[in-house]
Amino acid sequence: MDVDITCPHCHRLDGVQSVPAICADGSSTSYDTGTYSGVGIASTGLVPVVGTTTIERSQSTTLARSLTCAPALEPTRRLTGLGLLLLVLPAIVLVVLTTAMMFPPPNTDRSSLLLGMIMCVGTISLPGLLTLRSSFQRGRRNARIMRGRPRAMAVWCAGWYCHRCYLAFWPYSPLPDIPARQAVTPDQFRWMVWKAGGYLNR
Ligand SMILES: [Zn+2]
Repeated sequence: MDVDITCPHCHRLDGVQSVPAICADGSSTSYDTGTYSGVGIASTGLVPVVGTTTIERSQSTTLARSLTCAPALEPTRRLTGLGLLLLVLPAIVLVVLTTAMMFPPPNTDRSSLLLGMIMCVGTISLPGLLTLRSSFQRGRRNARIMRGRPRAMAVWCAGWYCHRCYLAFWPYSPLPDIPARQAVTPDQFRWMVWKAGGYLNR
């Protein structure tokens, strides 16, 4: 298959780089031609020197970050541990109150005692339960990212970026809804990759 990887915006090849290459080491390097002038020493004396040179530009990781193929996975282990730790005290209170229920003080209404116990244990369990819930949500989000990543990777790998125009593009369409040879901004590129992975609305 003959693939045209020239930039669809400037129609040049010298500024384009594949997206995986840009993201490989978190930095990007582009080459530009610049003019220099000065004075050189020759056998005939001082001579003016004018010429061109290739300038290497290393760009910050901002570009690599904006072209990333998936959001970062969030760790869940510590959060789960914290949630369980926060439930230790409610568990102890539950055991103590249940024991107290078995031997209620005389003339005490059991149902109000039970209601008090449920409210007390429920209230102090709340922080632990909420922590476990957010850990569970993180886990679900991580799983969704892992599931969608192969599909997003296929789109991401096929992407190219033009350092002249600061635009990304696909030389060919890796998926039916990805336009071929249409320049898009890095943000739009990431949006389309994440959409292909199904984790846009995380
Ligand atoms: Zn271009």
